[in-house]
Amino acid sequence: MTDSDKVLKQILDGTAAAKKLYHFNDEHDPDLPTRYWFQNSQEGMVLFVVFYTQACRWSRCISCSLPSTCASQPVHYKHQINQVYWLMKQPDVKERADRIRKVIISNNGSVLDEATFSSNVLMYLTLHINRYLPHVNRLSIETRPEYVDPCELEFLARALREWENDAQLEIAVGVEVFDDRIRNDVLLKGLQMPVLERLVERMNPYAYRLKCYMMQKPVPGMTGDEAIADIHKAIDYLADLAKRYDKVPINIHVNPTYVARGTILEHAFARGEYAPPTLLDTAKAVLHAEGKPISIFVGLDDEGLAVEGGSFRRAGDETLAEALETFNTRQDFNVLKEALQK
Ligand code: SF4
Repeated sequence: MTDSDKVLKQILDGTAAAKKLYHFNDEHDPDLPTRYWFQNSQEGMVLFVVFYTQACRWSRCISCSLPSTCASQPVHYKHQINQVYWLMKQPDVKERADRIRKVIISNNGSVLDEATFSSNVLMYLTLHINRYLPHVNRLSIETRPEYVDPCELEFLARALREWENDAQLEIAVGVEVFDDRIRNDVLLKGLQMPVLERLVERMNPYAYRLKCYMMQKPVPGMTGDEAIADIHKAIDYLADLAKRYDKVPINIHVNPTYVARGTILEHAFARGEYAPPTLLDTAKAVLHAEGKPISIFVGLDDEGLAVEGGSFRRAGDETLAEALETFNTRQDFNVLKEALQK
């Protein structure tokens, strides 16, 4: 079996283990990224780009349908390079070139898994960001922690040192849920906390930043209060990690879960056994971070993948959603407290 066959087998085995019913997006033009968009955050304007590559090798997390946006087969690095080139030429990117401060790189899987995302392309991309988006000083890379090799951390440090501004790297990892049993036995995340801690230890000398993606209420059977308590425990654990490795600033990205098509959540939702968390619960979860040495960002985008009625955004949520968006840019807990009192 070739390496390529082994990767494909891993993807298909993972998909089958999680009983996922979706199809891969093999019809997508390989010279175009999957999607890109802009966000406003505390760090300024963000360009978030999802490159189109072969799907996540793990592919097992039961409530994740992101691999359905990817190819089942390898996407050749020459196509990936064309995606970078295409992105930099887009009128809305060029028009914002002087305002974009941060670029988040994703492939809806692991960018540092060289089996799916080319290392050559990562180098090409860092070069092009420096060339075409001269005010970017934050680069964020989404990946599972086991794919982060020490040589990649070193290479990225050298690349960013050549940028003309004081650039910083962020490694973004999906932790999803703090409870070990739910994370690994129910959600099938396959992530042990010591692996995350080793990554933070390796990042500390470089003073890289860590972003941890958490899902609020990611599986059926969790009550709203249990989901809030899980986020509170994650905040406490990561605040402690930030104290131990004090050169690594930590951000928690809390995503209220939506019901993604083709996952077991869709079936549970259809049977009335699962409801997404409310934005009210998300605000309560996030408030626990007040006064702690970490920052928080609340994800309010269901990525267009939610089934009808399966989003965490409901009619009447506009004021709270606006408060959460303001909180994202200011980290002002009073904004949330005021919104909760209304
Ligand atoms: S959550 Fe991440 S690691 Fe898990 S299947 Fe989805 S893309 Fe892969």
